[in-house]
Order: sequence, then structure tokens, then C-alpha cells
Amino acid sequence: MDTIVIVGGGAGGLELATRLGDTLGRSKRARVLLVDRSPGHFWKPLLHTVASGKCDPQVTQIEFSAQAAEHAFEFVQGEVLSIDRARRSVELAPRCVDGLELQPRRRLPYDKLVLALGSVTNFFNVPGAAEHALTLDNVGEAEAFRKRFVAACIRAGEHKANGNLALGRVGVVIVGGGATGVELAAELSHAARSLAEYKVHALDPLRDVQISVIERGQYLLPHLHPQLSERAARHLRSLGIAVLTGTAVASVAPGAVLDATGQAHPADLMLWAAGVEAPALCASLGLAVNRLRQIVVDATLQAGGDANVYAFGDCASFTCPQKGTAAPPRAQVAHQQAMFLADLLARRDTPRKPDFRYRDYGSLVSLGPLAAVGVLTGALSGKSVHVGGAAARLLYRLMYQKHLLALHGMARTAAHSLVDWLRGKLVPPVKLH
Ligand SMILES: Cc1cc2nc3c(=O)[nH]c(=O)nc-3n(C[C@H](O)[C@H](O)[C@H](O)COP(=O)(O)OP(=O)(O)OC[C@H]3O[C@@H](n4cnc5c(N)ncnc54)[C@H](O)[C@@H]3O)c2cc1C
Repeated sequence: MDTIVIVGGGAGGLELATRLGDTLGRSKRARVLLVDRSPGHFWKPLLHTVASGKCDPQVTQIEFSAQAAEHAFEFVQGEVLSIDRARRSVELAPRCVDGLELQPRRRLPYDKLVLALGSVTNFFNVPGAAEHALTLDNVGEAEAFRKRFVAACIRAGEHKANGNLALGRVGVVIVGGGATGVELAAELSHAARSLAEYKVHALDPLRDVQISVIERGQYLLPHLHPQLSERAARHLRSLGIAVLTGTAVASVAPGAVLDATGQAHPADLMLWAAGVEAPALCASLGLAVNRLRQIVVDATLQAGGDANVYAFGDCASFTCPQKGTAAPPRAQVAHQQAMFLADLLARRDTPRKPDFRYRDYGSLVSLGPLAAVGVLTGALSGKSVHVGGAAARLLYRLMYQKHLLALHGMARTAAHSLVDWLRGKLVPPVKLH
């Protein structure tokens, strides 16, 4: 029986493990192993809602072990340190909790290896960015941001109450006007208001919490049509958020972001969301990588001519043969590639392998709890329509439902949605501490 090892249980990896477990694992045609450094899965496109306190990851997270038990795959918790492609094995770091070693350094043998390692923040070598700016790469970082935001609001509220108006305000600078930066800015503005309503801080959320989005390009959301970018910018400004486009960040210092003209943008919190690159591990495998360290894959998502290694999602570079452009680092791509690989690996004895085809169904960006903006592309017609407002927000919510559907099936997804809806009625709209 072949062993298929999938490294990374993110948006793509967990869907693949679930599907392969259901097909090959259950019928004992292959042993399917999922490796991740974390014990639970959190869908990355929702990280900005953890950073704003709207979403509690403890409630939303899916335990890998539980998913594995239900879908006939095995879960191994561990950080992959290296991969020996000649010996076909994956090396895992020792697993420690509170300084206590639970499991030593180990090796997992594989027959087929699938890399779904995701991406990490790209600081583009901007001086001081890695040292002083926060990032939103995982749940831990999103939680750290939330705690610092709430603490900064409480502290500034105290100063204001004591008459120290200069310190009675909070500045948040988000570098990068892509989906992550825009979605976080909108959610934070709503979070500041909710925290004020619950008297967690004594600030006027509109005047005393100053959120700025700094974008190097002429428009926010560069992947969308300029009309949609303008619409998003108008919406952010209506929330009191400063939108600074055409502004390149030259360096980051403690307490301020400096732009290329030398102007300082003071900030209590700085978040770097200007782009992503593949994790360093990708460049250490002897496989061809691009300038973002993404593993270059062929039309079957096979990596650099190694017949036993596949890569997909954010950590892979797949160029659409029809368009000649690279598929973007998005959950939509990871999902389509996971479904493709699940099929390909289940039919692995078929001599002629099909090619992966990426279909762009559009892109939606949340602008807070009540609005979104984006474009939808018809599957058959290929025509695109612009969408916005509450209807787009509803469609945006469906993206996560689609991910849950791939993991849990219809009945359980419906149950999850019902529980979420009930929770929304019972608990405050944001975490209060
Ligand atoms: C705030 C935010 C908003 C976004 N919004 C959208 C959106 O609206 N629409 C959209 O399509 N996309 C969005 N994205 C992008 C989307 O989240 C990614 O494209 C998608 O998650 C990629 O899936 P993946 O499976 O490749 O990697 P990931 O989902 O990042 O998963 C990678 C997994 O690999 C694990 N891992 C990594 N290295 C190791 C190692 N060495 N050892 C063990 N485990 C490891 C990680 O723990 C993680 O679980 C957003 C991203 C962010 C951060």
C-alpha cells in the first residue's frame, strides 16, 4: 500500500487529505498522512476577522485529529524541517510543549509527497519591516495583533480620560492595500466601534482611532478593476479610514512608517500586508523555484520533474498555458488544485494524466460586516460582472461555506452555519478582552 504524505493542512491541504482519505484511505488502497505544525485548521482568508476580534478561532478551528478520524486519514503534528527526496522521507522537528519534548526528531517515509505549505509575508527587504511590523500569517499572529489593538485602545482611553489628549489616540498603519489590508482596515474600524459601545475603552472610535492603509500602487485592490478599487476606497473613507495610494514605504522604525518622500506616519500598531512569498523550506529542496520561492510545477502539478513530488496552493507556481499567466495565491486556486490532485492521485495508475485547468470565478473582498466588493466570472460565458454592497457580502460568506462543504459535506455544513448564526445572536460582535 502506497503512503501519500501531504505537508500542510491549510485551505488546500486539508481538502485534499479529506478527499483522499474518503477515496483511498477508507478502501485501504493507500495510507494518507497529513502533516501540519498546528493541531487545528483555520481558513486563512478569515484571519483578518481574528485580528479584529470578530471571530474566535477556538470555536471556528477544525481539529486535524477529529477530521482525520472521520475521513480515514492519519494526522501527524510536526514542523517539517527538511525533505530527503533521494530516500523519500520527510524530517520532522522534535515536538515540544512548554519546553518538554513530547516526540523526538523523526522521519516519515513517503511514496508520494504533496507540498501544500502556503505562504509567508514578503517584506521585500524594506529596512525595519520584519523587526517592527506585525504580520497576519497564522492564528497566533492574528490573536497577537488583536490583543495589542485592544490594549492600545484601553491605554489611550485612560490617557484621554486623564486629560492627556496627545496620548489619547491610537494610530494603526496597514502597509499594503490588497485584500488583506483592505479587509482588516474595514473590520478594525467596526471593532473599534463595538469595543466603545461595550465601554471596553473610552475613545471616540471615529476621531481617536486612526486607521490608515498605505498602498504603493495608484489603486487599492490592484487585482480588481479600478472602478471597484475606487468603490472600496470610498467605502473605507466613509468609515473614517485614511487611504494613501501611490505611497511607497521606504522603511519602518519603532512607532512610525516612513514613506519614500521622507514623511513619517506615526503608528502604535503597524501591520505589514504588502505581499507574500513561499516559505524558505521550498527553496531548500533542490526543486526549481521562482523569485518568490514558489515551487515551479507542470500541468499535472508535479514539481520539477520529480515524479513523486507534487506542490500546489500558495507555495507552488502554476502557469496557465492558455493565458500564460501564473495562477494567483488564492484560496480558490488551492481549492481547485486540491480537487484536481485528489482525482489524479486516486487514479494514479492511469497512463495519460489530465492537465490542471484553472478557472477564475472572480474575486470578492469584504468591506466589513455589511458590504463587499468584487467581480464574478461566469463559468460558461466567461463574462465578468461587478458586484458590491450587501449582496456581495452574502456571496463572500458563501466562499467559506464552500470550503466547509468540501470538508464536511452538506448536513454538517448546514449545522455549522446554524450554530454560527445562533452564536452571533448570543455573544457580542467582537471579543471584548
Ligand atoms: C487575511 C487574508 C485574507 C485572504 N483573503 C482571501 C480571499 O478573500 N480569497 C482568496 O481566494 N484568498 C484569500 N487569501 C489567500 C488564501 O488564504 C490563500 O491563498 C490560501 O490559504 C492558500 O492555501 P494553501 O493551502 O496553499 O496554504 P495555507 O492555507 O496557508 O496552509 C498552509 C499550511 O501549511 C502548514 N505549514 C507550513 N509550513 C509547514 C512546515 N514546515 N511544517 C508543517 N506544516 C507547515 C501551515 O501550518 C498551514 O496549515 C487571504 C489570505 C489572508 C492572509
